[in-house]
Amino acid sequence: MQVFGSPGRYYQGKDLVQRLDELSAYLGNKAALVTDQKVAGFLTSPVQTALAKRGATVSAYTFDGELTQDLVDQLAAQIAITTHDFVIAAGGGKGVDAGKAVAHKLGLPLMTLPTAASTDSPTSKNYVLYDENHRMTGVFHMDRNPDTVLVDTSILASAPPILLKYGIGDAIAKKFEARQCAWASGRNMFGERPTATALALANACYDTLRINAEAALQCAGSGDPNPAFEATVEATILMAGLGFESGGLSIAHALTRGLPFIPGLGAAPHGFLISYGLMVQLKLERNAAAEHVDLWNWLPRVGLPRSLQDLGVPDPEGLDLDLVAEKIAAAPHMANFERKISHAELITAMKNPAPNEA
Ligand SMILES: [Zn+2]
Repeated sequence: MQVFGSPGRYYQGKDLVQRLDELSAYLGNKAALVTDQKVAGFLTSPVQTALAKRGATVSAYTFDGELTQDLVDQLAAQIAITTHDFVIAAGGGKGVDAGKAVAHKLGLPLMTLPTAASTDSPTSKNYVLYDENHRMTGVFHMDRNPDTVLVDTSILASAPPILLKYGIGDAIAKKFEARQCAWASGRNMFGERPTATALALANACYDTLRINAEAALQCAGSGDPNPAFEATVEATILMAGLGFESGGLSIAHALTRGLPFIPGLGAAPHGFLISYGLMVQLKLERNAAAEHVDLWNWLPRVGLPRSLQDLGVPDPEGLDLDLVAEKIAAAPHMANFERKISHAELITAMKNPAPNEA
């Protein structure tokens, strides 16, 4: 069976929070805003003002620190005390995932409202929880994708440019991962075969980023989104999200199961791990030499890491990566590859992900 999933509706544009009244009308009248304290500081008041236009209300539930199962249980218990019609999950990565986890636990409709284009989590049904040391404890799945995704590009264009870099790093790999999943008869995030639609979106994601990412990064931080920024945001949030969830992941993402065990990488940004992970994957692919060289030359232009040195690991050659390779080999996405990779092959590629021709 082939499966394709997506959010119920996706809105993207300038100043959309101001239109939250009309854009959330079908979700109900009592919202629970779940976000971290920093985002709550600038978002609670405009959300309140917008919802008040139709007599709807919002209560903010904030948190600080790592997104652990305990934290999710506490937030859900607080929210369950009063009746809510829907959850607004707002923030960079963590706030959105916190809201998703809470909506999942309480069975409430969900709107995601990203404040940075740093991941594609706003569109997907899965969320990641961590332990106190920021080690991933698991990837969890809501029963369905968010009902609504609200992407206010005025907010996103005010976020620090480095957050957009993270999003580009995460998204740029999707085409190559979905392609490997399809070739290997692998499974997507619904546990079934990918559709051609998902592959087409992953390809469009890549093409859009190659055309627009550099200009988008120039615009990032200005608060005033231009067309290149809008296109890049759509690629990093919508196309990348649909592309990976319905298209499947491969080695670039499998690496994130092991890389945090390398000293110094415990808290490395996901998007940085993925741009490096993509170089490892392309090194291991049989027929991707030309694409590997091309991307190897492009990544520095958008400030994305390609090697362990770029990630700040001082002496990769001297590292013992046996345990790291073991963790990576256990990741289910490793099966979505054209051939089985030995630990030794993986470690060699991780230590030297440069193209042979470079
Ligand atoms: Zn990712």
